[in-house]
Amino acid sequence: MPSWPDTPPSPLWQRLSRESFTAPKLTEATRADAVVVGGGITGLSTALSLRERGLSVILLEAVTIGAGASGRANGQVIGTLTRMPPDQIREKIGQPFLDLVAGSADRLFALVERFNIDCDARRSGWLQPAHSAGRAKRAAGLAAGWARAGADTQALSREDVTDLIGAPGYQGGWLHRGGGHINPYAFTLGLARGVAGEGVQIFEHSPALGLQRAGEDWRVTTPEGEVRARYVVLATAAHTGDLWPGLAQSLVPVTSYQTATAPLGALADQILPGDQAFSDTRQDLRYMRKDREGRLVSGAALAVQIGAKFRLPRAVRRRLGELFPALSKAQMPEFWGGRIGMTTDRLPHLHRTDDGLAAFVGCNGRGLGLCCAMGPLLADAVTGLPEEDLALKPQPIRRLPLHFFVKRFARMILPWLRWQDSREVK
Ligand SMILES: Cc1cc2nc3c(=O)[nH]c(=O)nc-3n(C[C@H](O)[C@H](O)[C@H](O)COP(=O)(O)OP(=O)(O)OC[C@H]3O[C@@H](n4cnc5c(N)ncnc54)[C@H](O)[C@@H]3O)c2cc1C
Repeated sequence: MPSWPDTPPSPLWQRLSRESFTAPKLTEATRADAVVVGGGITGLSTALSLRERGLSVILLEAVTIGAGASGRANGQVIGTLTRMPPDQIREKIGQPFLDLVAGSADRLFALVERFNIDCDARRSGWLQPAHSAGRAKRAAGLAAGWARAGADTQALSREDVTDLIGAPGYQGGWLHRGGGHINPYAFTLGLARGVAGEGVQIFEHSPALGLQRAGEDWRVTTPEGEVRARYVVLATAAHTGDLWPGLAQSLVPVTSYQTATAPLGALADQILPGDQAFSDTRQDLRYMRKDREGRLVSGAALAVQIGAKFRLPRAVRRRLGELFPALSKAQMPEFWGGRIGMTTDRLPHLHRTDDGLAAFVGCNGRGLGLCCAMGPLLADAVTGLPEEDLALKPQPIRRLPLHFFVKRFARMILPWLRWQDSREVK
């Protein structure tokens, strides 16, 4: 069964995109120094970095550019990891990786500028409101920790957060001024345009079906062609199939659904008046951002997915209505979903062989900036930079026990997370 997406990317982001990009199908046998599999932000950023090292690069996308999570995300640009705080990243992984994460939003916005990407980029900050007093204390620690890592941050009181959101209900929080939001589909298309302009050959509707050694090279086959290359990078994220045995079984793909209000008119000025992106401290995250026409774009995961198209917008509206009563009857006409690649330690995993194959999985739902920053690292990793010089150490692929069941039932953990959130655990 194909592992790549079988539904179109976000209809909302597609409608709002002023960027467009198309590429041909691979229909011949060809060669390049490097082949990148996957046309999301990771693949494009990696292809760019390999090209900048003077290599000829081919990128294969199974469907169309932005078909995966990159064209479906909420669009929040967040320069942090999902769970691990900065001091622990420094201690457990190292200063170079902390620098990479801390610089990840910079890298995204620098790409926007470099390629003049028309993606409604707003560097208005990323706000993390705290839903409990305990989390407010932790948020103040995060603001200080990320400031030590070089980020422009501010710890926020309850009153500050009320002003920034335009509603009471949170106990404090923190602001990362380097964050913001984009139309992620438009960003991905614009990045493809830029990367192609630098000489990367991109092919759409060209799924990599096979990966074998062929002498000194790798041979990647597609339905109508093949590429021989010295280096191969798999950038297939939650859509990883069986090209590299065990890789798909090392992560858990989780479906996240998105929805949005209709344009809110004057009300939009009162909600998030500073236009920040918002993700709170709950484990069953509440998040939102505005689009350029004044819709509030939000989302959630569901433990039971039956009827998601009808149930999810209602559930999100209920949550929005708790914060902004004026939205409790709002129409939620938009709906789409996408797959997030989760790792059990909530950390990104880098893998490589010593014969020119590398992969990165595990953005854990916070990947727009991170995937931009992983490009140069993947290029270093696949071309053989010694391990001690890599910001993130490659690790062996570890298949999760009972992966078949874990994959199907991972979302059943949601009620447990909600219970923890309500008890302020951790
Ligand atoms: C609903 C949702 C909301 C999110 N919101 C945010 C957010 O607000 N902020 C944030 O930072 N992150 C967010 N994320 C996470 C973020 O979108 C991802 O981390 C990031 O886009 C992953 O990019 P990627 O290039 O690694 O993977 P993808 O964009 O998924 O790209 C992988 C590509 O590989 C292709 N592919 C798979 N198999 C093959 C094959 N055999 N041959 C060729 N191509 C293949 C797929 O078609 C796909 O296009 C969200 C994710 C989802 C799903």
